[in-house]
Amino acid sequence: MSQVTVKTDIRGVLFDNVTMDEAAAKTAELINSEGLDYIFTPNSEIVQACIDDPSLYDAVNSASLIIPDGIGVVYASKILKRPLKEKVAGFDLSKRVLDYAAKNGKKVFFFGSSPAKDDVPAVCDIAAEKIREIYPGINICGTRHGYFSREDTDNIIEEINSSGADILFVCLGAPKQEKWIYENREKLKVSLAMGLGGSLDVYAGTVKRAPGIFIKLNLEWFYRLIKQPSRIGRMMNLPRFLFGTIFFKLSGKDKKNTK
Ligand code: UDP
Repeated sequence: MSQVTVKTDIRGVLFDNVTMDEAAAKTAELINSEGLDYIFTPNSEIVQACIDDPSLYDAVNSASLIIPDGIGVVYASKILKRPLKEKVAGFDLSKRVLDYAAKNGKKVFFFGSSPAKDDVPAVCDIAAEKIREIYPGINICGTRHGYFSREDTDNIIEEINSSGADILFVCLGAPKQEKWIYENREKLKVSLAMGLGGSLDVYAGTVKRAPGIFIKLNLEWFYRLIKQPSRIGRMMNLPRFLFGTIFFKLSGKDKKNTK
């Protein structure tokens, strides 16, 4: 298990203050180090979930690399006067990992997203097919959709371990995927696991990522809201988090190191 040492505390979540290039270099190191390492990509919603349910901190902070997957976390770091260098989107890091895997013969397993329905294959299988086109030669050694009961967990882990995967994408949404990896960290035999939310949907094309201009203007959250208005309830956590952070700073709680 490898650990990055310089951490930036944003409301109790210990982020690594890295650029995308630094995160990608660190990820390659983790893939090649002994034992399991895992990467989490919290956004404002997940940090707010930790504030609301502090039992989540242990799972989230146990990762070897924690990157800010959202501009809200970067704004919060500025409010707290310990700025993170940049937003490092989990999806973008996953592309770097797939590229690395294809070039270095590392096996990848995709776990999560919707099962097959009628004639439509499971999202993880559609994603695998698309990814094989984008990264020729990539070895995707297994896929498993993300709808299961607790009793299935050991079988799923057995399936992942016996596939010989080096890298595991866990795409169950947050905080389910963080809890799942944390709870099963002793059993997983992969080198690297990553919690990647809806990334397989984006690779499969069932969910569109925001056009570049939205990403550039830091309005990716707004695009998601227009496309999936049902997310409004979840998204209210973003202003809750930012206003909460301003209050947290002004009230001096930051200095007392309370969350
Ligand atoms: N999902 C899953 N199992 C579950 C719940 C969700 O595999 O029990 C999948 C869901 O199909 C989707 C992903 O997890 O592919 C969640 O996507 P979302 O964009 O909501 O994730 P976020 O990154 O916002 O947490």
